[in-house]
Amino acid sequence: MKHPYFKNTLKFNACAVLCVVFNFCFSTTLHASEKPNLIVILTDDQGYADVGFNGSKEIFTPHIDRIATEGTRFTQGYVSYPVCGPSRAGLLTGRYQDRFGFVGNPTIDPTVDNAGIPKDEKNIAEVLKPAGYTSGILGKWHMGTHPDLHPNKRGFDHFFGFLSGGHRYFPEELNINDLSQVTKKWQWYNTRLLRNNERVDIKEYLTDELSNDAVDFIKREKDNPFFLYVAYNAPHAPLQATQEYLDRYPHIKNKRRKTYAAMISSVDDGVGKILDTLKEQGIDDNTIIFFLSDNGGPLEKNASDNGVLRGGKGAPFEGGVRVPFAVRWPAKIPAGLDYHEPVISLDILATIVDEAKVDISKNKPLDGVNLVPFLTGENKGQPHDVLFWRSHGRWQASLTNNTKMIKQKNSQMLYDINTDISEQNNVYKKNKSQYNKLQQSYQQWNEELEDGAFPKLGSWDFKKQNAEAVNAEASKNQKNNKKSAEQSDAQE
Ligand code: CA
Repeated sequence: MKHPYFKNTLKFNACAVLCVVFNFCFSTTLHASEKPNLIVILTDDQGYADVGFNGSKEIFTPHIDRIATEGTRFTQGYVSYPVCGPSRAGLLTGRYQDRFGFVGNPTIDPTVDNAGIPKDEKNIAEVLKPAGYTSGILGKWHMGTHPDLHPNKRGFDHFFGFLSGGHRYFPEELNINDLSQVTKKWQWYNTRLLRNNERVDIKEYLTDELSNDAVDFIKREKDNPFFLYVAYNAPHAPLQATQEYLDRYPHIKNKRRKTYAAMISSVDDGVGKILDTLKEQGIDDNTIIFFLSDNGGPLEKNASDNGVLRGGKGAPFEGGVRVPFAVRWPAKIPAGLDYHEPVISLDILATIVDEAKVDISKNKPLDGVNLVPFLTGENKGQPHDVLFWRSHGRWQASLTNNTKMIKQKNSQMLYDINTDISEQNNVYKKNKSQYNKLQQSYQQWNEELEDGAFPKLGSWDFKKQNAEAVNAEASKNQKNNKKSAEQSDAQE
């Protein structure tokens, strides 16, 4: 136990120890194949404290907890940005997203062809394709809406979901066809879903539909090495849940918190289905599953809880960037381990390419590292000497040996995360030389980064664009009418 906060997970750890013993005896019979499957289960805006494996007694996540108890829990797992879009760009490329100017949520204007991951940066699906992997993405893409940025153009063989940064959950609310029909802000949450390039209707609650599609994908691809990116938009706002899941929380009186909890239960049932399917299909031992949230809980916005961590989504504090994070791989990764060294979502790509022995020597250098040797004990060091975060023009942060530097406007902060996990005691004045050293290494890193490469969310003038589209359509019709009138004339 590193911090008193983790005392409330003692019970969890007692089970975990049994799992370690069991796994040790059992794992001698398992063999990792050359090309393990990879499943990344990403939730959206879920708080650090809102999983059983981080001590929640209020929200039930028995299946998500299996990833931690049958695998390894990261107590200090980070994402590379505390907001959806940039965090996903980092996770998918294994590189700090500011290296390629992905500094904010991209516009959803479908005419902007660079509002996503640049084509000379490779995402996990693109990296694994030459090694024979089939890839699928379910749920939230958020990496651009221009046709050239569509998942099918970016290495994914299968896509079932939506292109924007959020969505409504009930089938009857998915009542516009596509972005050309948007007449007001956030109406893009109402578009019909996409199955690859085709618009389709769904019958069930969105989260359940995504889980069912994950099951179908696994059954279909069981004989190939695959990468499945299950990008649930739950529990991101709008807070919407079905009675089935709400009924599990009679003890939560706050309506918003109850709905948020119910949304997580739907994800949890989906994780259960995914785990069961892997077992049924006989590929359980050789599938690496990462579970994490894309950023810390936004607290009031979706009634999430980051526990003792300070701040939430958008903030440089631990509540913004430290997320529930676990990995399970029966063939190689120890079960029931609590890993306390800092790790980051950028490590996911590095882990799979190393384990699958994919040659990436011609790709741009990764910022992540293969975590497996650290989890097996083969490497006793720290995966990262330093981690960095940047919100371009707003704040900067870095972490070395659990000393965290934050600079925000004119305020300078230094926290000892080991003894002050809640970042309450700013020791900057007592330790300016340490702060300056961290600043120096930050500045070196910052020089390698780019400014924002594309317009951000909110910049889309959909009224103008759709008016232009309507006018273009009208003028096309006018021309066609004229032409057919001329043809009619000629025929007469
Ligand atoms: Ca998010």
